[in-house]
Amino acid sequence: MDNHSPRGPRSALLDKLAWLEYAFQPAGLPAPADAAYGQQRHSARVVLAGQNQPPKSCESDGVIGDSLSPVAVYTADCLPVLFADAGTHQVAAVHAGLQGTLAGVLGSAIDSLQARGAQVAGLYVAIGPAIGPCCYELGSDRVAQMQARDDLPTPRWSVEQPHNPLAVRPQARAHHQGVWFDLPYLARELLLQRGIPASHIDVLNLCTYCMTETGSSYRYNTHFASGYQSRFSWIRRREEGGVTSL
Ligand SMILES: [Zn+2]
Repeated sequence: MDNHSPRGPRSALLDKLAWLEYAFQPAGLPAPADAAYGQQRHSARVVLAGQNQPPKSCESDGVIGDSLSPVAVYTADCLPVLFADAGTHQVAAVHAGLQGTLAGVLGSAIDSLQARGAQVAGLYVAIGPAIGPCCYELGSDRVAQMQARDDLPTPRWSVEQPHNPLAVRPQARAHHQGVWFDLPYLARELLLQRGIPASHIDVLNLCTYCMTETGSSYRYNTHFASGYQSRFSWIRRREEGGVTSL
């Protein structure tokens, strides 16, 4: 896998879907000129692309594509989640940090796609670069709150910081004696809970803190005041009309 190509890392799963284009762009590159994206608020609100053309016309953390124009999200450590429906050839881009994930933004996106004719068994999802369990320290009280919710899958976390053998810079140091939380895992579990097949979910497992390009982690900037820039991730259908194979 090439983490540093101009287009950014690739999802082997989405690469199989010839009817779409997508990118998890490196941090700092502008969004495609015609992309629709919301004023992101860590909410569960998902809207149609037309409601965010021009970008940031309204507050939303997910955008459903309703034309050939790309739908996008911007992230630093939060999860950029790209959805593709093989049945209707709809696409969606979702911004899912911990707050938005717990608010249900992934479920909102699935609801919106289903309301427009998608079936969960036909959904394909890729989770792009985001802070990993190697660097995401979280207060143990937050984990306890999650464990107290019966609508959530069992979260994954560890007291010992996981070593990341693929890190290209030092992993985050503990700052508040928290636990090391696996947000991509929680997102994947939520997608599975909604009925998306495991073989249709691709987690890239690229930690923005210790693995991806410099200046792409909000938390790294919090620790070192080194600056950061947003990463735009986007997806679009290539052509109007007929549904063919995948
Ligand atoms: Zn890391």
